[in-house]
Amino acid sequence: MAVVVSQLIQALEPSATLAMAAKAKELKAAGRTIYDLSLGEPDFATPEHICEAAIDAMRKGHTHYTVASGIPELKRAVVRQYHERYGLEYPPENVVISNGAKHAIHNVFACLLNPGDEMIIPAPYWVSYAELVKLTGAVPVVVNTPQSNGFKLTAEAFRAAITPKTKALLLCSPSNPTGTMYSKEELQALADVILDTDLAVVADEIYDRLVYTDRPYASFPTVRPGLKDRTVIVNGVSKTYAMTGWRIGWAIAPNKAFAKAMGDLQSQETSNPCSISQHAAIAAIQGPQDCVETMRQEFDKRRRYVASRLEAIAGLSCPTMEGAFYAFVNLTQHLGKTYAGVRVDHDTQWCLELLGQKGVASVMGSAFGAPGYVRFSFATSMENLAAAMDAIEEFINSAE
Ligand code: PMP
Ligand code: GLU
Repeated sequence: MAVVVSQLIQALEPSATLAMAAKAKELKAAGRTIYDLSLGEPDFATPEHICEAAIDAMRKGHTHYTVASGIPELKRAVVRQYHERYGLEYPPENVVISNGAKHAIHNVFACLLNPGDEMIIPAPYWVSYAELVKLTGAVPVVVNTPQSNGFKLTAEAFRAAITPKTKALLLCSPSNPTGTMYSKEELQALADVILDTDLAVVADEIYDRLVYTDRPYASFPTVRPGLKDRTVIVNGVSKTYAMTGWRIGWAIAPNKAFAKAMGDLQSQETSNPCSISQHAAIAAIQGPQDCVETMRQEFDKRRRYVASRLEAIAGLSCPTMEGAFYAFVNLTQHLGKTYAGVRVDHDTQWCLELLGQKGVASVMGSAFGAPGYVRFSFATSMENLAAAMDAIEEFINSAE
């Protein structure tokens, strides 16, 4: 056979979050009532002024190729925002705008990792990190973190995982899938390990605006002097402004050479992120921010509701959700049981039976490197959440 999939791609797992969402959509299209808690995607419409900016951009003729690494005006908006929010100063040339934060992460890994290098990824982790590391020929080194510590990596566990091949640490806070957030002190403890070594950090800060505690959000490079030179920040408009479909995210590099490498890679891969979406992203970042707070408050309401419903179900537990829009629930007490005659031993089976029997779509913990757990996204309406929580409760109560 002439056309054979390469070994690297054969080893690639497809995204489980997208696969579960596709399954839910398929069942919906076939006429089933489905409560979809699978995908982490704001259900709000993109705010009107952002859509208007896109229409305006089209009318003004911003419909051609742009600079491969993104338009300077958007890069300036990104660095201005990081400066205003966190006091961090970067030249706009250090920013590379990509087709979503996922693409930005891919660029960062491709430019950072050599074959055989190791990247430390605390588990539970978002589905794409380990797969994107593997695509570079590097090795994801997964370090399990306990629920009792809010699924956060400690300095001791981090230090113990470092080998001569370790190149970088991946940090995601607030975390997808766990919904927990590192405190400044916890980040400082990790920073001290970093500063003792010559490791880099990839800080995925995509949920920095979706925080529900009074503790202020700490952007990683701010927690200790010297970290800024070691950190590549990833962020984007998808979650903050309900713009998942527009595909705009970015990486902020610690130096121009690294940014240039990502821009060069992108020039060969995708030419540039969508010109119209880039203009919409400028309007999102520079326009009124009350839409962000309105959405955050609504997510917070849903979070409290989901927490109270889950708490009322015997044998379930999850850490306090402090950010993002996920509940990461420990299912272990409900495995090894029979649901409507079907014996369920594994979280994947549990999710598939919950979908099949009750029409609730979720994502299995195994996909996040945490067997025995399930992730429920609460980025959906209260009405859906209420129906889904009823169905989950019924499902669990049906187990024998
Ligand atoms: N990082 C995390 C932690 C995410 O949850 C997501 C959501 N898809 C992304 C990155 C990618 O975001 P985007 O839609 O901008 O590619
Ligand atoms: N980040 C979201 C999630 O985890 C969107 C899907 C994806 O990009 O994986 O559900």
